[in-house]
Amino acid sequence: MKKHNFSAGPCILPQSVFKEASQAILDFNNSGLSILEISHRSKDFVAVMDEAQELVLELLGLKNKGYKALFLQGGASMQFLMVAYNLLEKKAAYLNTGTWSSKAIKEAKLFGEVVEVASSKEKNFNYIPKNYTIPADADYFHCTSNNTIFGTQIKEFPATDLPIVCDMSSDIFSREIDFSKFDLIYAGAQKNMGPAGTTLVVVKEEVLGKVSREIPSMMNYAVHISKESMFNTPAVYAVYVSMLTLRWIKSKGGIQAMEQKNNRKAELIYGEIDRNPLFTGFAAKEDRSVMNATFNLKDESHQEKFDMMWKEAGVNGLNGHRSVGGYRASMYNALSLESVQVVVDFMQELERKV
Ligand code: PMP
Repeated sequence: MKKHNFSAGPCILPQSVFKEASQAILDFNNSGLSILEISHRSKDFVAVMDEAQELVLELLGLKNKGYKALFLQGGASMQFLMVAYNLLEKKAAYLNTGTWSSKAIKEAKLFGEVVEVASSKEKNFNYIPKNYTIPADADYFHCTSNNTIFGTQIKEFPATDLPIVCDMSSDIFSREIDFSKFDLIYAGAQKNMGPAGTTLVVVKEEVLGKVSREIPSMMNYAVHISKESMFNTPAVYAVYVSMLTLRWIKSKGGIQAMEQKNNRKAELIYGEIDRNPLFTGFAAKEDRSVMNATFNLKDESHQEKFDMMWKEAGVNGLNGHRSVGGYRASMYNALSLESVQVVVDFMQELERKV
């Protein structure tokens, strides 16, 4: 039986993608070869890489606007340092909204001065700071659009003339934003795009080439751009599965359609969290993430009963992150409204039973 998968990442992907991706392991494009055994320089794989890059820019509305899409390795965590390596000359401004922002800040400090413009750490990152000042002389401003662990999401990005760098690992392709406001976007694939193993970087070429330090080739965006993401062997299979998922997003109506479905799922679960007297939401209401809903039982003595109910019914990955506790429903693009309804039904059943 297929489980209702609320895992925070790696996470659910479309079932049709799993099917097509598994077929390609046995025989890719009727070539008599598995996708796992072909050269990354083969015509068939180069076509996959080209299509994946093209789909990224198309879906984000960034075609012919000076952006390049790269599929790199090392996870979003490597981008924490690669961003600073390539863009930080003297000073950078960072908004601290959680564990991943904090890690990005730590790495950037190795390359120059980091100004933390605001932080919600004092409240265990349960809200998004607002009305902060970004120093005008910084090289760039960095933020995390969606805080996977705490379940908060930036709804309005600050207006600034500085280049904006954004970690969109856990909400890329999930909602419509004016992506052209950003100069560099990065995202580990393993949420809305594909399996773990590749990291998407979308960069406006004009922001590069401005730092004076020498950048090692593997850390250098310009090198990866000049080799079209083939400077070294890319994560062939992860890029292929990402390409299939991007095709799926496009075929379903693009980001706009994803957003509508995601909003319905979020309304359903948050509606129940707010209605049900046994539960309480973790994140400030106005900053609630549409991707990751974090919530707790008001009385933890009900935990055992509730956990048994959803686990026995084939729900997976609903446990909260250890730094928040409670529950986290990660509702990425491929998760159905019906799966969310299953959890809501159990929340109501618990209410009836206790
Ligand atoms: N940023 C965010 C927002 C994340 O959710 C994660 C992983 N969950 C990371 C960065 C780190 O990604 P990776 O494991 O690919 O390095």
